[in-house]
Amino acid sequence: SLNIVTFVFQNSKSAQGLVGLKNLGNTCFMNSILQCLSNTHSLRDYCLHNAHRRDLNHSRSNTALMEEFAKLIQTMWTSSSSEAVSPSEFKTQIQRYAPRFVGYNQQDAQEFLRFLLDGLHNEVNRVSVRPRGSTEDFDHLPDEEKGKKMWSKYLEREDSKVVDVFVGQLKSSLTCSHCGFCSTVFDPFWDLSLPITKKGYGEVSLMDCMRLFTKEDVLDGDEKPTCYRCKTRRRCTKKFTVQKFPKILVLHLKRFSEARRTSKLSTFVNFPLKDLDLREFSSESSNAVYHLYAVSNHSGTTMGGHYTAYCRSPSSGEWSTFNDSRVTPMSSSQVRSSDAYVLFYDPPACSPFTSFPETLLPLPLPLHSVSHCERSTFQSSRFQSSTFQPLDSFLVC
Ligand SMILES: [Zn+2]
Repeated sequence: SLNIVTFVFQNSKSAQGLVGLKNLGNTCFMNSILQCLSNTHSLRDYCLHNAHRRDLNHSRSNTALMEEFAKLIQTMWTSSSSEAVSPSEFKTQIQRYAPRFVGYNQQDAQEFLRFLLDGLHNEVNRVSVRPRGSTEDFDHLPDEEKGKKMWSKYLEREDSKVVDVFVGQLKSSLTCSHCGFCSTVFDPFWDLSLPITKKGYGEVSLMDCMRLFTKEDVLDGDEKPTCYRCKTRRRCTKKFTVQKFPKILVLHLKRFSEARRTSKLSTFVNFPLKDLDLREFSSESSNAVYHLYAVSNHSGTTMGGHYTAYCRSPSSGEWSTFNDSRVTPMSSSQVRSSDAYVLFYDPPACSPFTSFPETLLPLPLPLHSVSHCERSTFQSSRFQSSTFQPLDSFLVC
């Protein structure tokens, strides 16, 4: 019977994550993001192997958001039916966590992603007691060391699988135009919100948007900051660079005006599917080359619109369109469009075919028995190594 189960798993649509999500009434924003996350290799595996259970922070009263999220991902990747799945239990939990998602209003997919990742992170944060804030500063250190210290300080409070996967570090440098003194600030980021370059006609490139985001900005007049050395307010220049690139890079194209989403830019932003090379935006020499694996699209206007997702399967490498309950194959040449809204990039090492063979994925046990499976001793790193754990060791539940 094991062979039959394996056969079903390898051949059903659900075994490839090609399962639609029912629209519960204007929930396409949620479905679109869930599909992008379902195709996020390391997050999917974290859920499929029940690794989140080790991290669930039981000192906190509620862990239901992560539980429901993992359950949903498991259903999308292991149920033997290819019928669309209802995310209603998950929706109940995200509403509890972020009451703004109560009801059936159209919402912003990027804001939803932020809330969701934040909620999941809080429930699997390895830090149960956050240290008291210290006034220690690292201003006397060289930038690279200061960046590292600030990062470890961040991890002392916020440390989870979600952080491992999505969080990077941004450096902003403020230079006094009078004395040349440069002060630096390091902040974690979960995604980068890129302004769309305005050109009179035609398309712009993602690199244009990145350059606009990191362009030197002059702070003058009312905005003049106080220079640490001059001890008075001075005209300064401000510039962003990426200190630490995250494993998964999420780029949000700012198509909507900030003032209550009253207008939308439908500019075609040309982005690469392969080899997005961001090294010129890096403050330290680091690896910053990415491949695209998912896009959350918004079509229509601010008045009425619809979200879909285009995702490349972490298993097969094939692209599909996820339109609520419908999942259809697509060509990679169709991925770029003026509807692209949130882009998900992973490093080349995460690309298909360099990962473990499909037969080594956990088998589609019924969920109730998965929940008793405490032998989920998997670590994602093991999947890449040749010393892979034998199959039967995680069938003992
Ligand atoms: Zn100065």
